[in-house]
Amino acid sequence: MDNCLFCRIAAGEIPSDRVYEDEKVLAFRDIHPLAPVHVLLIPKKHIGSLNEVNGENADDVKAVLEAVPKVAGSLGLKERGYRLISNCGEDGGQTVMHLHFHLLGGEKFPSDKLF
Ligand code: AMP
Ligand code: ZN
Repeated sequence: MDNCLFCRIAAGEIPSDRVYEDEKVLAFRDIHPLAPVHVLLIPKKHIGSLNEVNGENADDVKAVLEAVPKVAGSLGLKERGYRLISNCGEDGGQTVMHLHFHLLGGEKFPSDKLF
């Protein structure tokens, strides 16, 4: 996906503040943080959104979820906890059409509001 922002970040064509990387996954700091810790986890392979998750890309999605505790641990979030969000489509508020999970932490979020 030549014109996809997160594919270009994964390819290193656009700089990012990387906090974790493996064969299938990249995590980098959100450019407009909404919490003291705000990191985005993405599959390196292009998947448009949660709507496109299927048996063929399940290994990539699984790898992203397996990276969550590693990234949370390295950022010191494991003990107090964190929130993981993936916006999907227009109503979900998705602005970048490459599947990503927002890992948010470093403060206590209200339990009566998702965000
Ligand atoms: P969403 O609105 O769920 O699609 O999230 C997209 C996120 O990508 C937003 O929180 C943006 O701040 C973030 N973002 C956009 N461009 C960049 C970039 N170049 N580097 C890091 N984060 C970005
Ligand atoms: Zn992409």
